[in-house]
Amino acid sequence: MKPIRVGIVGVGKIARDQHVPAIMGNSAFIFVAAASRHAQASGVANFSSIEEMLANGPDLDAVAICTPPQAHYAAAKLALAKGKHVLLEKPPCSSLTQFENLARLARIADRTLYQTWHSRHAHAVAPAGRLLQQRDLRRGCVTWKEDVRQWHPGQTWIWEPGGFGVLDPGINAISILTEIIAEPIFIRSACLHVPSNCAAPIAAELEFVTDRGVRISTVLDFRHTGTQTWDIELATDQGPIKLSAGGGQLTVGSNAVPPDPGALANEYESVYQRFAQLIREEKSEVDVRPLRLVADIFLIARYISVEPFIP
Ligand code: NAP
Repeated sequence: MKPIRVGIVGVGKIARDQHVPAIMGNSAFIFVAAASRHAQASGVANFSSIEEMLANGPDLDAVAICTPPQAHYAAAKLALAKGKHVLLEKPPCSSLTQFENLARLARIADRTLYQTWHSRHAHAVAPAGRLLQQRDLRRGCVTWKEDVRQWHPGQTWIWEPGGFGVLDPGINAISILTEIIAEPIFIRSACLHVPSNCAAPIAAELEFVTDRGVRISTVLDFRHTGTQTWDIELATDQGPIKLSAGGGQLTVGSNAVPPDPGALANEYESVYQRFAQLIREEKSEVDVRPLRLVADIFLIARYISVEPFIP
């Protein structure tokens, strides 16, 4: 099979750190072009916009959209209209309506729309989901504390409307919860701390509840320095389960569980393996649940104004 020719849109941190190495390391793909207003990717044809790349660039089969979420919809819509398969970074869009329309447009265009939740590809997620199928979940606790200056250096979009703030990493935890817990999850209460100079929250206290009434307390904080914490602790009828390192490590009781045999070393290697499979099978993969929960959080939240964020 001929390699899938990919163009990246938005050459920033995640494109450089993860997408380019994952594409280059997968023989199902060939990286041929990039579109970014200022940045360039080395070794490929570069363009200052997706419009220019699709009009004047080399032939492409697929586009990976790595811009901030506010720019995802327009880029994905154009790529689908031009007959390209689309890989869409998380959070998929700034609104549910945009996201649902992209799924519709992909069906009409008969192209693959792969809307990624990269954290679901972490090692502990699939085994934790299998364990929970055999256990009764009693209580959950999510602690997602990271340093925004380290993971989003100099990024202003994250503080702007549609930028999600701390719910940008928070949606990763929610994508894991919705993957491993079989029943519907609702948001019961939310308190969002918004810096007085920003439109998006820097911290959040959330209380989720499952359909059976199991409570999942969640704390998100972007102001955390030192050891970064991305933990999900689950109390079950057969003892505790803990996913740490953003879903990368699983501990059952006091025993560390090794990754599944054949599990790929890196989340994005696994993401691109899945993208190739979906294109081969002429399927799309779209799961709106994490974005819907985030939208619900913004709907019901109490907002507290906190001190300005100084980058
Ligand atoms: P980033 O470093 O800001 O890179 C995004 C790039 O997109 C920018 O450098 C910019 O390059 C381009 N861009 C196009 N339209 C833009 C606009 N309207 N505003 C700002 N930049 C625009 O951001 P990132 O960290 O790579 O995040 C991009 C996406 O990946 C987000 O959806 C994020 O949630 C997701 N993600 C990020 C991480 C992480 O650790 N940072 C991890 C996983 C997923 P030009 O100026 O050259 O156009």
